[in-house]
Amino acid sequence: MSRPVVVLGATGSIGSQTLEVADRLGLQIAAVASRRPGPELVEVARRYPDARVAVTGGSAEEREAVVAVIGHRVSFGAEALMEVASIPGVTVVNGVVGAAGLEASISALAAGNRLALANKESLVAGGPVLKAALGEGGELIPVDSEHSALHQCLVGEEIESVRRLMLTASGGPFRGRTTDDLASVTPEEALRHPTWEMGRRITIDSATLFNKGLEVIEAHYLFDLPYDRIEVVVHPQSILHSAVEFIDGSWKGHLGHPDMRIPIQYALTGPQRDPSPAPFFDFPGTTLSFEPVDRETFPALDIALAAGRAGGSAPAVLNAADEIAVEAFLQGRIGFLTIARVVEATLETVSWRAVETVQDVVDADAEARSVAASLVAGAC
Ligand code: MG
Repeated sequence: MSRPVVVLGATGSIGSQTLEVADRLGLQIAAVASRRPGPELVEVARRYPDARVAVTGGSAEEREAVVAVIGHRVSFGAEALMEVASIPGVTVVNGVVGAAGLEASISALAAGNRLALANKESLVAGGPVLKAALGEGGELIPVDSEHSALHQCLVGEEIESVRRLMLTASGGPFRGRTTDDLASVTPEEALRHPTWEMGRRITIDSATLFNKGLEVIEAHYLFDLPYDRIEVVVHPQSILHSAVEFIDGSWKGHLGHPDMRIPIQYALTGPQRDPSPAPFFDFPGTTLSFEPVDRETFPALDIALAAGRAGGSAPAVLNAADEIAVEAFLQGRIGFLTIARVVEATLETVSWRAVETVQDVVDADAEARSVAASLVAGAC
């Protein structure tokens, strides 16, 4: 019997798919959390009248309006998010966008809960802190499709038997383009992902390949393997979600339709499997192809890998600078190619420090945001 579910980021792409999967499985929703106290959250809160509700943002008037509609099961602020993540005996699905998810991830683990992590930023920015929290208790299951795939391939295996991890990348909407082509692409074009349905930031990150860089860092912390044993290959069909090569020359891969409801469901029920609403995949008539990453046209991957290797605060700086640059691109303030330039220049400007506490992560994040914002302003 699977545990009740707490959904952080309940109105986002991962959150709404989690609620759909949980409803289908008949799982209880213990709490939902959202940044904005808007009509989407009120609608979700009404669907689950017994769930606690946490809201981290919004004005005083907006908060009063939410209380007026759904009553006093709602609480507010960053503490409210940590409180619902600490409800005992639940699975916490962390679908918060950005580094804001780190403290909630730590709260979930500290309470001994299963943390179904879709918020890759909390692992990228706060890897050492989250790993230390995991050492104290709780359980971490990745929701990110590549990492869910790797996790499933590694069930029953010793990490010493692994030669390398292979993360697959669709290549995004701009695979095959040249740097010249990319100079003038619009946010609308970048938001058109060929295979996966996702939120806005991650879709832009998939177009630059920063997402794959963040995912290599995520895999490094999740599976404790050095960066030279984690590789990336472009696989445009997104059917092989990632694979593991073992020291005897065997490979294990995880295949299926690109549908986030599959890894979300596994994070809720795994290692048990249940029927899912995703379509079944058939091999005949399907061609799976693989090609190397075009690292010159998409420099973001190597920028991210360098930050991962530097460790300490560098991945937090990378993540924060990318958040600022992507937002500026979506607002039409900088061009597509400038995203990587802003991130690289921010990494060169912000000084490296060790990361031992949440405060270290918060400080690195804040400094990187301010440096990136001034770089964006200078680029306009
Ligand atoms: Mg992914």
